[in-house]
Amino acid sequence: MALSIDVLTLFPEMFAGPLSHSIIGRARKQGIIQISLWNIRDFAQDKHRIVDDTPYGGGAGMVMKPDVLARALEFVQMSNPGPVVYLTPQGRTLTQSIASDMAVMSQFILLCGHYEGIDERLRDLYVDVELSIGDYVLTGGELPAMVLIDAVGRLIDGVLGAEASAPEDSFYNGLLEHPHYTRPRVFCNMEVPAVLLSGHHGQIRRWRLKESIRRTLQRRPDLLDRPQLPQEVLQLVEEIQSEDRKKGGHV
Ligand code: SAM
Repeated sequence: MALSIDVLTLFPEMFAGPLSHSIIGRARKQGIIQISLWNIRDFAQDKHRIVDDTPYGGGAGMVMKPDVLARALEFVQMSNPGPVVYLTPQGRTLTQSIASDMAVMSQFILLCGHYEGIDERLRDLYVDVELSIGDYVLTGGELPAMVLIDAVGRLIDGVLGAEASAPEDSFYNGLLEHPHYTRPRVFCNMEVPAVLLSGHHGQIRRWRLKESIRRTLQRRPDLLDRPQLPQEVLQLVEEIQSEDRKKGGHV
């Protein structure tokens, strides 16, 4: 199923590079992902095409005008009835699970803020979802929108070719991914783990899962702190912890 995304931005030209190359660029050429970029300034009606104004109550910065944004959104909503997503540092933090949920939608609209952000009334009236890409503040919503498009786009059927596989990636199954190796077999006196050269698919699968769990335990133990972990994962956690105890000389 194709995904259709409309992006409202003051800087549509910022999207050209990141969304025209590699996997997402190819998916757009194939029509699997359709992205329409709308310049918010085109919906301003005054001579100077003003899109922002000073904040009521005073203070620094400018606020994006609700009337201009409402016109832009209503125009785009005529052809895209999907949810309106406002990129903001105040939103829910984007995760793989949110990206997966969005990848089964057929349409959504992304609203990129700038300056101090958008008038609160526009937010109340038009925005369905608020998403952040992390606890830091960027100058605009364009980079977050591109991050979201990339994270969601690569999960759409047919977008990833043979060069990548989403179900094996970090976070997809709640774990960080296992380490990878390629030729040469020996690099700086370091050998590729023997099991990966064995051709034994069962052992390779188990090694990868175990290394994936080991890495998650070391770097993101919070990911394993959830109910109903599969039996095999629990067993491997126990195995790794027992090995670590032995190495630490506790057993
Ligand atoms: N004054 C706002 C605040 O403190 O929440 C920040 C405004 S920021 C300078 C301008 C725009 O950048 C925001 O309206 C939003 O669209 C975007 N933005 C900045 N950081 C972001 C983040 N971490 N995630 C998503 N969007 C972000």
